[in-house]
This record gives sequence, C-alpha cells and structure tokens, in this order.
Amino acid sequence: MATTHDTKSAALPEYDPQAIEARWQAVWRAQDAFATPTPPTDGSSDEYSRWIYIKASAPFTSGNIHMGHVRSYAIGDAYARFCRARGDAVLFAFGWDAFGLPAELSARDRDLTPTEWVRRCAEVMSGQLNRLGFSFGWERTFTSSEPNMYRWSQWLFLTLLKAGLIYRGTGTVDWCPTCHTTLATIQVENGTCWRCHGPVELVERPEWFLRISAYVEENDRRAAELKHWDDVALGSQREVLGRLDGVECDLSGTDDSGEMLTAFTPHAEGLAEARFVLMSPRHAELGRWTTKPGLAAELEEMRQGGWDRAAREAEAVPVLDSGHTVHAPAGGEPLPVLISPLVDSRFGPTAVLGIPARDRTDAVIARRFGLGAHDTERAARGDSGATTPARSRPAVRYRARDFSVSRQRAWGTPIPIVYCEACGTVPVPVEHLPVILPVDLKPTGPGNPLAQDPTFFETTCPACDGPARRETDTLDCHFDALWLWIPACVPASERERPLEEILALPDLRSWLPSERLVAGSDSGNFMFDQRITTKALRDIGPLAFLADGEPFAGALMHEMVIRDGRKMSKHLGNVVEPDALVEEVGADTVRLAVLYAARPQRSLNWSESSVAHCHRFLGALWIFAQRTMAVDPADLPSSAGEPPKLMTDHLRRKLASWSENGAVRIADALTQLEMHAAVRDLMRLFERIGDFEKRAVAKRGQLSREDHEAILDALAVLVYWLDPFAPHLAAELAAAGLDRTPHPHRDLQTA
Ligand SMILES: [Zn+2]
Ligand SMILES: [Zn+2]
Repeated sequence: MATTHDTKSAALPEYDPQAIEARWQAVWRAQDAFATPTPPTDGSSDEYSRWIYIKASAPFTSGNIHMGHVRSYAIGDAYARFCRARGDAVLFAFGWDAFGLPAELSARDRDLTPTEWVRRCAEVMSGQLNRLGFSFGWERTFTSSEPNMYRWSQWLFLTLLKAGLIYRGTGTVDWCPTCHTTLATIQVENGTCWRCHGPVELVERPEWFLRISAYVEENDRRAAELKHWDDVALGSQREVLGRLDGVECDLSGTDDSGEMLTAFTPHAEGLAEARFVLMSPRHAELGRWTTKPGLAAELEEMRQGGWDRAAREAEAVPVLDSGHTVHAPAGGEPLPVLISPLVDSRFGPTAVLGIPARDRTDAVIARRFGLGAHDTERAARGDSGATTPARSRPAVRYRARDFSVSRQRAWGTPIPIVYCEACGTVPVPVEHLPVILPVDLKPTGPGNPLAQDPTFFETTCPACDGPARRETDTLDCHFDALWLWIPACVPASERERPLEEILALPDLRSWLPSERLVAGSDSGNFMFDQRITTKALRDIGPLAFLADGEPFAGALMHEMVIRDGRKMSKHLGNVVEPDALVEEVGADTVRLAVLYAARPQRSLNWSESSVAHCHRFLGALWIFAQRTMAVDPADLPSSAGEPPKLMTDHLRRKLASWSENGAVRIADALTQLEMHAAVRDLMRLFERIGDFEKRAVAKRGQLSREDHEAILDALAVLVYWLDPFAPHLAAELAAAGLDRTPHPHRDLQTA
C-alpha cells in the first residue's frame, strides 16, 4: 500500500497558480459570480439575512494599481467573500475618481485628452484588479468624469447652494503659483503644494466655499456613537476636526471705539499670564483691527510671501502688529493685537490669547516682540490695571473650517452657474443639468482652457434669456468625493433617472449606511466631508432616512505599504509592482502575503519573506491535499476492532476540535476584519493537520481509514476558510473534492 501511495504522489501535479487562477477567473466571469443582488421591491420576503455594502475606496485613475490598492482591496474582498458565504447580500463596488489635476497633467504629458486618458487608465486598472481575483460587482462601477455621473456634483452643488451651504466668498485662498490653481486645505502640506512641493501663497480671489462649519459640531458629537469604527479611523476624524477645549472671553479695545474681540485659549488657568492676542488673517472681523496706515500693504505682502503654517516654524512665520491693544482678561497691561497665520493651523480662523508661560509657540512670538520678561515683572509686582477682569466662558474651537471647492482648472465638473449683466449670479436650473464639459478638451499648459473657449462660456441666462457667461471654474475633485460613495447602490439600469428619483430608490435604503468602509489612513478628510454631506442631505431631505447622518456604520482604516521603512516611491526606487509579483508567485500568494504581514492598522513594511512564507504555505497545502486525495481509502485498514495500543480515536477527536475552534476563531477575526489573525489561524490549522498525520503514523505505522477521513474533514474546513484569502486555490481544491462544508456556515455567523 505504501508503494501505491508513493507511485501516485510522484505523479501529482505541481502547484501552478497561473493556470488555477486563470481557470477560476474565467469561471467567475462566465457565471457573473459577484453580481450585486437587487433588493426586493414588491414586498416579497428577503432571502438574505443582511444587506452589506462594503465601501471600497474610489481609486484615482492614475494608470496603475499599487500595493496600497492591493492591501485595501484584499481586506475588503476577504470580508465580502466571507459575508456572501454566511448568506448576506453584498455590495462591493467602487467608482473611478477620474477628475483632477493629476489626470489632467498625465493626459497632457501623453498628448491625450483627459477623457481618453482616464478611459485607458480604468481599462488597465480593471484588468489588474481582475487578475488579483477581487470579487467586485463590476456592473456597479462608474467613472466620475462621465456626464451622467458628474451631474451628481452639479446637482449637489445646486442643492447645497440653495440650502446656504455653498457660498460665494472673496476669501483668502491657498494658491500655488507653479500649478496656477487654488488648493484645498488637504492639498497644502506644511505650507507647500501637495503636487509640486513649491511654496503656497495666500491670495484673495472670488471662490465657491463649502460651509462645513454648519455640521462640524455634529460630526464631533456623533463620533462617539461610531461603534464599528476602528481606532485609526476615529483618530482620523479627530485629527480633521482638530477640536480644542478651553475658554473664551470678550476683550474690549483700549481706544474707546467700543470694538470687542473674542479671544480663545485652551489654557483656562492662564488668563492672567496672557501677553498678547493673536488673530488669524482669515478672522471674520479682521477689518476692524487693521486700520493702521500701511498695515493693509503689509498683510498683502504676508499673503504673497507663501505661508508655512506649521507651529514649529514660529521663529520664521510672519507676525504683524495691528497697532491696536485690548484690555487684558485679568486686568493689567493692555495686550497688543498681533496677526499671524500661525493661528489657523492650530486653532482655526479665530483669535487666541498668547500665553508665553504656557505655550512654546507663544513664547517664541513674545520673544520676537519683546513681550515676555517685561510683563512678567509687572505681574510679579501685582500691578493690575484699571479694568475689571473679563468674564470667561467654556468654549471649543475646531481647526476644521470651510474650504473653497472651485478650481481654475479644466478637468473637473463645470460649476452650474452663469453670470448675467442684468440678473447677476444665476444658478442653472436642475432640469438643465448636466452642464457638459467639452469632450475634446485638451489642456495644453497652465491656466484654464475653459476660460478661453467661447463655445463653452458663451451662453444665455436661464432667468432673462439675455447673453450670459458661464462660470469657468470647475469643482475640485474633492467635491466629487462628497457623493462618490452613493452611486454604487444604484443599479446601472436606473442611473439615467433624475437624481431626486434615484435618491428615492429603495436600493439606497437597503444598502445605506454602508456596513463597512475600508480605506487608507490618508482618507480621513474625505470621510469627514462625506459625513458632513450626509448630514446636510438628511436635513435637506433626500437622505432623511439616515437619521444620524452617518454614511458609514463601520470603518476600517489601514496604514500604508512601505518598504525599508519608507514610503514606496518611484523616486526612491523601492516600488513593488503588483503585476510583476502576481506574474511571479500568483494572485493568491500576493493577497495572502499583504494580509499575513501586518495588522491592517499598522504600516506594512514590505518583505520578500512574507511572500515566500505564504507561497510555501499554499504550495505545501496544495501538495498535501493532492497526496491525501490520491489515497484510495479502500487501500487503508479500518481501525475497527484493532488492539488498544493502535487506537488513534483521541487524536482524531483532538483534530476535530482544533478544526472547530480554528473555524470559530477565523470567523471571529473576519468579522472584526482582523485578516492577519485569520490567516495565521489558517496556517496553524494546517500545521495541526500535519501534526495529526505524523502522530497517527508514528502510533500505528500507517494511517487508518478513519484517520484518513479525519484529515479530509479537517482539510475541507481549511479550504472553506481559505476562500476569503486565496479564493482561486480554495475553489480548485473544493472542486477537487474538499468541499464538505462540515460546519454549516450559518451556524458560525453568530461568532
Ligand atoms: Zn503646485
Ligand atoms: Zn439674466
């Protein structure tokens, strides 16, 4: 019998991931295996236990999938496959985030229209994602730069405008003189442009602003109720929010003009130690405090100078003296009113008390203005001024603030506004949407070609039919992100309908809120503003069914994939290309390796050893399974009636309990999206199956028929739970006979 066994194992097929993966991907495609179910609308009973929308991040049409995508989608896909197996209806789909400066510049470099460039990107990237075997509901995919989709942006713009949540402001905006565009707050990194890393200037320009301030406090309050958000995701929201608790007091000017200035400080105990007031140049009441001759020019110069707003740069950041003073909150020497952009990054566009004794940045400013030592002496002498102390009250400040959503670029959603000499600023009526972006648009350099194209900007006024000019600014792609999480819930067949009808579809009520968002740790800003938009649309009406105004019931934020401790970048030459890796070791190994290597919440420091380890595991499992299935049980002796010294019942019972416990642990880890733990448990279960075989053979010389059966049972459990992580190999082994589902999955879903 041993001879038979050896002969067979010599002829066993090698693990060939390329062949296995191609075969199963073709099967899934042919079966439309991951099509999204449609909720019943006729009141018929629901065959699914849950409706689970797993929100995958919307990839930029950059041209290539990178390891960060692989990590993100491997986590989401494992969860999607797990949920389907336990009987849930699953929506796992995304839209391409196709507008924006990077796509525009990439198209220009290749002498293509952006439309053509993003079409090619989406095609290539879909192929890459398919080669990895991700179970997306592809029929739900969409591209944000298609007119039918960017009308969502236009509709949202008009809806928020009507509700007063979008406004025209002549604000100071971050301006990159190199890229010739205004920047969103998130596009300014330490005072430099996110794209060209050149210095950013603040300039005054008419812009369209999104009034997030209306919902910042609610976003703060609701965060405490986000039970299924992991710590990284919650932390990202706190980070964007930038909440500061403290006190504020109203300080009157010393020049008897009656002007009052409300100043905040996080140091409630330090009021008596205040030495100056620092005002943001964006402060709503700045004008009242900048009457000093020549100050306007100085402010202008400061704005043009390019601000680095990091607190650690306190030595260098411009600080202007307004020439005004206010009475100190606890009496004493009047406080000079200073102006500096340092306030914005730390407290938002407000005014704060400068307390050098409590704050290092304040100490630096006090030294620069010679304010610290002198006043400390006066305080020590107990020299209190004539005024009565100002009353302080508890107060909160948030760094999160309204931001500009318009850009002077061509590759974006046209803003549905026209300017008419007779009527002024006129919104395009909703029934006229979409305002179409020229498809042959081909940006050639800096500046905005829309503003030079009369066929685009010449129009008639919707109010008076007179000649009018279209707004030629477009919406920043950050604005698209405000709604990008919704259309996947809409079946493709319904996508042409008016947006009011789409938003009333029962589908949205089945899928929303999204059960779990899986996104990179750099997407906190998007999530924050998506949460704001949901609250706005709840109050306006279309999303009224989301009572708490939250688009995501749960969220997992994963960290980046890095290499040698550094961010992967072409510049550093340390990029791992997913395609090459898949070519070399197969998709299952790549997927398994990114999940195995680290907890989602930790940076994944890429190593060849994780890949090698996972490849060995899958290869060993393949060989072991083939060898086991090649054995004919009829060739093995039954253990019935054998002498006690040969009995292996207790070993089999142990194996069965290992399988069962392993399955429970893996299901548990999957529910928590702790994929690395699940993969480690899978590997442990495989080791235990091997141990069992060794021990049984050691005890009785060869396996009994019952032992063999026990191994097949345990392998079937292993293969069942392998499916979310290495679905191709799992499908191949299940089809080869290891498909007993001995643990009905519905019993385990309560784990
Ligand atoms: Zn730039
Ligand atoms: Zn008009």
